[in-house]
Amino acid sequence: SLQDTTVLHNGVKMPWFGLGVWRVEEGDEVISSVKAAIKNGYRSIDTAAVYKNEEGVGEAIRQALEETGLTRADLFITSKVWNSDQGYDSTLEAYEASLKRLGLEYLDLYLIHWPVAGKYKDTWKALEKLYKEDRVRAIGVSNFHVHHLEDLLKDAEIKPMVDQVEYHPQLAQHALRTYCKDQGIQLEAWSPLMQGGLFENEVLKQIAQKHQKTVAQVILRWDLQNEVVTIPKSVKEHRIIENADVFNFELSSEDIAAIDELNKDQRVGADPDNFN
Ligand code: NAD
Repeated sequence: SLQDTTVLHNGVKMPWFGLGVWRVEEGDEVISSVKAAIKNGYRSIDTAAVYKNEEGVGEAIRQALEETGLTRADLFITSKVWNSDQGYDSTLEAYEASLKRLGLEYLDLYLIHWPVAGKYKDTWKALEKLYKEDRVRAIGVSNFHVHHLEDLLKDAEIKPMVDQVEYHPQLAQHALRTYCKDQGIQLEAWSPLMQGGLFENEVLKQIAQKHQKTVAQVILRWDLQNEVVTIPKSVKEHRIIENADVFNFELSSEDIAAIDELNKDQRVGADPDNFN
């Protein structure tokens, strides 16, 4: 179900499925989409300081908890430290600022948004401090290639629990997936729907038709069967519901193989080696 979780290497449970809110407007738009998600069973929300909608996410959480009777502990809230805030002291300050905007006492997961060269190790030390002081339930990274993880692990006391990267049928991240699996780092997909760019794909359309599902549902099911956490974004309630309706069918190994063939190692977002 939507509340199924993976268990991170520190024992914390993280939902396999969540709502992403990049490019969702602060105010009414983000409040209504986060509330729609929680009311329809979502428990995980992915935001970031740079999305400039943490206040609305926080407001939506407060309203949803009041209206549903859920508690804060039922939810899994992720945010990320932005590039210009990287470094030890500035990351500690950025965490407090995110919490304040969200109106929360703690986050479930705090991520380094991008591997800013020369800074991400100091940033990681700040995340380790927050974690050791029980200010955050899990810490991780985003947009880290294997070489960034290898470099971080040379000095890290705590291994990242999550790496959130661009991942979809045209960017299957084979090397990173294998590395993360070996290391016990949970892979999480951003832009799982390739920002809308896969809906006319004939292979996906055929598989969708066979299962009486939509292309979006086939892609998101592929994420789950590959043991990748997924956080599709939508602001429309009917799509928020549609995207989450992926727990009642199974892709066959032939379906998976056909989807795997679509890989082109092709990004829609920036390359973590060249994102400035
Ligand atoms: P996505 O791949 O989730 O695609 C979202 C777009 O697809 C929507 O704008 C909508 O137009 C369309 N869509 C969604 N559901 C649909 C459906 N059922 N049918 C038809 N169209 C549908 O794109 P995304 O927002 O880029 O990625 C998801 C989340 O990942 C973000 O919101 C954000 O939280 C996270 N993210 C993180 C990073 C990072 O650097 N860490 C970068 C990008 C995104």
